[in-house]
Amino acid sequence: MVNAYALCPAFAYFKYHFPEPQTPSMELGKELDVRELVEKFVRPKCEVRYQVPLRGKLGSGRADAVVLCEGRLEVVEAKLGGGFKRQQLAQAAFYCLLAEEQFGLPCEALWLCSPEGCERRPFSYSLREHVKGLLEALERDLDVLPRGRPSRYCSYCKYSSLCPWRPP
Ligand code: SF4
Repeated sequence: MVNAYALCPAFAYFKYHFPEPQTPSMELGKELDVRELVEKFVRPKCEVRYQVPLRGKLGSGRADAVVLCEGRLEVVEAKLGGGFKRQQLAQAAFYCLLAEEQFGLPCEALWLCSPEGCERRPFSYSLREHVKGLLEALERDLDVLPRGRPSRYCSYCKYSSLCPWRPP
């Protein structure tokens, strides 16, 4: 839900109240060989756990991988196509917060991986504060339809017929 909210607050509201069936691309995403991507591009020298269920005060989710190394951790988020957008970054940052709570270790960085490669981003103070702000706003906005954030995505949006913010 964090990635949906980062895309568009109204989209997250609709997704929460009118859950959609999984699309073929979502199902394909599950078939990504995360282990292969991690070994090829991240090349960790430490323990890696895959498909890690995460649960904490802020919510729950499943990280594609968590790298545990010398008293700190890094989270891996993978997807099929390249070109990571702010919503995938927000999702990975959310998993960093959950993983910190679950493992009791600081999250140092997150990896955004696709078959084209993996990109390392530090889990900076500003990213941490950004995702905390998103979570607060998400909680508030699930009750009443919030203002949408129209974008090029609107033309693909499954909820456009319900949405008063969609472009004409
Ligand atoms: S149509 Fe656009 S503004 Fe409306 S929910 Fe979808 S993405 Fe958001």
